[in-house]
Amino acid sequence: MGAFEGKSVLVLGGSRGIGAAIVRRFAADGATVVFTYSGSRDAAEALAAETRGTAVETDSADRDAVIARVKDSGALDVLVVNAGIAVFGDSLEQDPDAIDRLFRINVHAPYHASVEAARQMPEGGRIIVIGSVNGDRMPVPGMAAYALSKSALQGMARGLARDFGPRGITINVVQPGPIDTDANPADGPMKDLLHGFMAIKRHGRPEEVAGMVAWLAGPEAGFVTGAMHTIDGAFGA
Ligand code: NDP
Repeated sequence: MGAFEGKSVLVLGGSRGIGAAIVRRFAADGATVVFTYSGSRDAAEALAAETRGTAVETDSADRDAVIARVKDSGALDVLVVNAGIAVFGDSLEQDPDAIDRLFRINVHAPYHASVEAARQMPEGGRIIVIGSVNGDRMPVPGMAAYALSKSALQGMARGLARDFGPRGITINVVQPGPIDTDANPADGPMKDLLHGFMAIKRHGRPEEVAGMVAWLAGPEAGFVTGAMHTIDGAFGA
């Protein structure tokens, strides 16, 4: 029996990168996994076939679509909010619409999805949101909106932990440092700069983040809530 046999898991943003590793991990551990995607239909369908999961198109920038998706998922045992984007560049030059879209995906969707999930979650339900070490430390210019969005998740988790705790539902933020994905390739131009901040001078693997998510979703983590869990090779230390 897998650790999550019989459990119902929804991953928002599961088609690629860290989200795909989380989908694979829960599927391998026996869960029934539904995951959303927005732009990567082919990758999502291939992952669904590989994991015997279900891929559904839902744009995390669309608040009402996110709420409807979570509501339609019924009584989830685990919600993982992974979908997130970064917008790089001079804050004085950035398009305010692009910044607002970032906030809708990175902040509004996690909040509304978490609240909607908690309505139907059973006792012992788990909510895990993928933040970033940039919520704690932002050592380069051009990423203020992204850092703001990831810091906002910290306050959200602290507050919702109070709201949901009496029902045995936990909410936690996983804060990766540089992880090898399309968004931050291990051989990308930022590699040397990023590794310079780190004690373990390599990008992390998506599977390493998925392992932390699985622990937080499992029975050993029932007393862990309202907390940030950093996995970053000491990028933020
Ligand atoms: P990728 O860009 O590799 O993948 C992003 C995933 O999120 C894709 O599955 C994508 O789906 C989905 N997604 C993005 N926008 C939307 C949207 N509007 N609606 C639905 N799904 C969406 O990113 P990573 O795997 O690297 O990052 C995943 C999370 O981890 C993000 O929250 C990111 O901020 C965080 N993180 C990443 C780090 C890194 O170094 N990689 C470091 C710290 C945090 P699709 O392509 O189908 O739209």
